[in-house]
Amino acid sequence: MSTDTLPVADTRQVVRAAGRLIAADKGAVAVTVLLNVLAAAAALGAPYLLGRIIDAVTGPRVAGAPIDALAAAVLLCALAHMMLARWALLLGYRFGERTAARIRTGFLSRAMNLPASTVERVRPGDLAARGTTDVDAVAGTLRDVLPGVFVAGTQVLFLVGAVLVLDPLLGVAGLLGLSGIVLVGRWYLRRARSAYLEEGAANSDLAEELAATTAGARTIEAFRLYRSRLTVGRAAIARTKRSRLATLRLRSVYFPVAEGSYNIPVVLVLLIGGLLYLDGRITLGTVVAAILYLRQLIGPMDTILIWLEQLQSSSASFARVEGLAAVPPAPATAAAAPASDRIEVTGVRYAYPGGPDVLHDVHLTVQPGERLAIVGLSGAGKSTLGRLLAGVHRPHTGTVTVGGVAVADLPPDLLRRQVVLVTQEHHVFRETLRDNLMVAAPDDRMREALRTVGADWASDLDTDLGEHPPTGAQAQQLALARVLLADPHTVILDEATALLDPRAARAAERALAAVLHNRTVIAIAHRLQTAHDADRIAVMDAGRIIELGTHDDLITRHGPYAALWRQWHG
Ligand code: ADP
Repeated sequence: MSTDTLPVADTRQVVRAAGRLIAADKGAVAVTVLLNVLAAAAALGAPYLLGRIIDAVTGPRVAGAPIDALAAAVLLCALAHMMLARWALLLGYRFGERTAARIRTGFLSRAMNLPASTVERVRPGDLAARGTTDVDAVAGTLRDVLPGVFVAGTQVLFLVGAVLVLDPLLGVAGLLGLSGIVLVGRWYLRRARSAYLEEGAANSDLAEELAATTAGARTIEAFRLYRSRLTVGRAAIARTKRSRLATLRLRSVYFPVAEGSYNIPVVLVLLIGGLLYLDGRITLGTVVAAILYLRQLIGPMDTILIWLEQLQSSSASFARVEGLAAVPPAPATAAAAPASDRIEVTGVRYAYPGGPDVLHDVHLTVQPGERLAIVGLSGAGKSTLGRLLAGVHRPHTGTVTVGGVAVADLPPDLLRRQVVLVTQEHHVFRETLRDNLMVAAPDDRMREALRTVGADWASDLDTDLGEHPPTGAQAQQLALARVLLADPHTVILDEATALLDPRAARAAERALAAVLHNRTVIAIAHRLQTAHDADRIAVMDAGRIIELGTHDDLITRHGPYAALWRQWHG
C-alpha cells in the first residue's frame, strides 16, 4: 500500500463486488431482466406487424386479409412495450436505490473498521472524497443512468437480432451501416473526458482567480498589483475560452456526424432491399420492417452513447469505493487478555512511512495508578509515543505492551477498556447526545458520566447535536464523558486542553480530574505545572527519553528539565 493514498480496486475486484451487489438482490434483478426482455420483445412486434400489413395490402388480394386484426395487434404491442418498459424502469430505479444504500452502508462499515494506523496515515481528503463524491457518483449512476442504459442495451440486442432473423443479408448491411456511429462515438468519447475535465478545471480556476481578485481588492490596491492580477485574470479567461472551444469543436463534429450516420444503415437497407424486392426475392413488408427496426435503434443507441462516459467515470468511482476492501485488515489480534494494567515500552523505534526514525530506542515502564508527564520541545516525539502507547501505531522494533500483550494487537473493544488517547480533536456527530456517547450504556450511566464531567448543559439525551452544536469546551466534556463510559485503566492526554481558553481550560481541568481519578495517567504536558504535579516526569528530546524521575529529582540533577523549569519560572 502506498504511503498516503488508499488502494483502488482492480477490474476483477470491481466485477466481483458488482456480482455481490447483484446477488444481494437476486429476485429483483431477475424480475427486472425478465421485464426488460419482455419489453424489448414487445417492441419488435409493431415493425414486424406493419410489414405484414404492407404485404397484405400489396400482395395478391385475399378475401378477409386480417388487416384490422394486425393493426390492433400493432397497438397492443406498442402498449405492452410502453407498460413493460416503464415497469422495468421502475424496478430498476428501486434496485438502484437499494444498491446505492448497500454501497453506502458497506463503505461506512469498512471505513469504521479501517485500522486506526491506516486512517492516520492516508491523506485525510482521500477517505472523505471516496465517502462523498465517489459514493454519490456511483449512487447517482445506479439511480438515474443504469436502469435506462439496461433497457436500451436489451432493446439494441433484440433489434439487432430481429433484423438478422428477418433477413440475414439486410441485417448484415444494416449493421455495417451502423459501424459509422460506433466509430464516431468512440472518437468522441476518447476525447470528451479529458476535454470536459479541462473545461471544468478551467472554469473553477477562473472562478477562483476572480474571487481572489475581488476578495483581495484592497490589498491589490495597496500594493499596486493591478498588472499582475490582470495578467492572471486574462490567462484564466484565455484558458477557459480555449477549453470551451475545444469541447465545442468536439460537439460540432460528433453530433452532425452521429445524426448523419444514423441514416447510413437505412440508405443501405433501402438500396439492397429495393434491389432484392425488384428481384422478387423479398417482400416489401420485410424491407419496411427492417428499416423500422433500424430506425428504432437510434433512441437506445443514443442513450447508451450519451451515458457511456458517465458509466466509465462512475466505474472509476466504484473502484475507489471498493478499494477500501483491499486495505489489509488490522493485524492478527491478541490471543490472550492483558494479565495486568502495567504498561511497558521496550527498545521502541518508530518512523512514519517514508520518513526517518522519530523514536530511537525508547524504554519506559508505567505502573498502574501512576501519573506520568511527558515533556519536551515540539517535535521531540511526545505525540508519537502517545500514539504508540494507545495502540494507534505499532513500533517497528521493540514492543509496547499492557499486561504482557502488545497494545496494537488488542481488538478495539478490548483496547478501549485498557488505554484511551484523548487529544484536542473531539468529533461531535450530527446525532443525538445519546448517539454521540456511542456506547451501549444505560441512560443513567450516561447522565452520571455527563454530570461527572460537569456537562450541566446536557440534561436531555435526545438533544440533537446537529441542530445544537456544542462549544469547544462542551465537545471536550463529551469526549471526557466517553472516556468515563469506556472506563479504561489508563488515559493518555495529548494537548487535551491546550486549545481551550483559560476559563474553559480550568473547567476542563476539573472535569479531567474527575475522569482521571483512580486511573493511570500519561499526560503530554505543555504547562510545566502539570509536570510538577505528576509522580514522574519523562523528558524527551529528538526521539529519546533523556531524563526520567520525580520533579524534585530532576531539579536537583540540574539537567534539561531543571533548565526548562528555571526558564518557565523566569
Ligand atoms: P511532539 O509531540 O513532541 O511535538 P511529534 O511526535 O508530533 O512530536 O513529532 C515527532 C516527529 O515526527 C517530528 O519530526 C514530526 O515532524 C514527525 N511527525 C509527527 N507526526 C507525523 C506524521 N503524521 N507523519 C510524518 N511525520 C510526523
